[in-house]
Amino acid sequence: MLPLPIQHDELLATLNSFGTDLPSKCSLPVEELEKRLIKALHFSQRFDELFRLEAKKKLDPHEYHKWTNHNDQKVAKAMQRLSVEETVMGSAPISWDLKLGAESPNAEIFTELKHTMMGLGHAFDIDSKSRVYFVGADKDWLIEFQTLSVHKVAEDTPLILFCYNHQVLPERNALEKIPTASRYNPVVVISELERKVLLALWDHNGNRLATVHHKKVARKAGDYKASFVLPLGSIGMRELGSLSKNTGCVICGQANSPLRCDKCLSVIYCSERCQTVDWQLGHKDKCVTLQDATWHRVVFHDRPDGVDMGYTTMINRKDQIKGANFPALPVSNARGPSVKKTVLVKMQTPGIPGVTIPDHIMIYDRQRSFRKFWVRSGGPSDAAFRVAVQQIHRSGGKVYRWLKRIDDNEYEVCLDRVSPETPVW
Ligand SMILES: [Zn+2]
Ligand SMILES: [Zn+2]
Repeated sequence: MLPLPIQHDELLATLNSFGTDLPSKCSLPVEELEKRLIKALHFSQRFDELFRLEAKKKLDPHEYHKWTNHNDQKVAKAMQRLSVEETVMGSAPISWDLKLGAESPNAEIFTELKHTMMGLGHAFDIDSKSRVYFVGADKDWLIEFQTLSVHKVAEDTPLILFCYNHQVLPERNALEKIPTASRYNPVVVISELERKVLLALWDHNGNRLATVHHKKVARKAGDYKASFVLPLGSIGMRELGSLSKNTGCVICGQANSPLRCDKCLSVIYCSERCQTVDWQLGHKDKCVTLQDATWHRVVFHDRPDGVDMGYTTMINRKDQIKGANFPALPVSNARGPSVKKTVLVKMQTPGIPGVTIPDHIMIYDRQRSFRKFWVRSGGPSDAAFRVAVQQIHRSGGKVYRWLKRIDDNEYEVCLDRVSPETPVW
């Protein structure tokens, strides 16, 4: 399905770099993870928002005006999408230049991809005819990227229409294939994983491109393919939820898995057989029972008065800042879980852990079917509130805890039992 196969662990790492919460032991099959990767790339480009295309209609960039560079309208800058975290922490990438060396293997793939997109815009800004060459550390493959034109598909959004050619070569031969030219033709060393994800993105976008562009490129040089790129930005919470859910039976990976360990609620199974296997394999030791746990009685709010907007901007450190359009929140729903039922929820605070002291915590379930706010009130539940905030900050901005619904907005929260591993979310 993808132009180059991507391993299971690489797919998980890539998806999680986009902000999903897939557990490291997630047993979803490779084909399902590939589908989610394609969806993630699709969401990240805000494709549906930008082009309200009917299902079968293909995109023709020539229907949009050409991008003209003046003042602040450089393509490199317009290809940049900052996240809340980058803005607040001041860690925004300042150089658009394509790096000449490979990034550290620990660099998050999503960050690398974003930099590459900006670099492609930068190459166009310097010389609209420039070519960009991507090679691997072993120089045994070469991807040539050549811009055809840049279009303005929205006020602040460029689309780079291009053609590319991917060649597999004998080791160390790649550099010889690159013409020594007087133009600005940067050679960029990228990781194997970035190569695979880039090709997956270009292949996916190529499939959505109007046939006329494929024909044009094929006429000029048969072994080149046409595609396009858009700025890559962070994915909204709701879309992240759809990419993170139904991780399947932890033993066999089957998607339709209705059983859940009823002690800790953190693992799901397709059948009692798989549940028994997992229990014997060691879940027995990890499973945390809620017996003798301490429950704190708290009244939740549907929405904290007057702070919703400030909260929205800070809700997810990786959410993208895009004009005044802040990312969608999980739905607010007055109902919540049924009375007396214990559910595992995610708790998050606004702002950067350890930097801002929040006066409320957002709480939502794994299906994102309800969302509540725990607001510091000056009342008796504030001691538990402080404990919860500490726990959230210590674990980097979110924790998973259990709660029981008592009445309309009255809940009981358990803070002294920790989910044994990252729950299936
Ligand atoms: Zn199973
Ligand atoms: Zn359990």
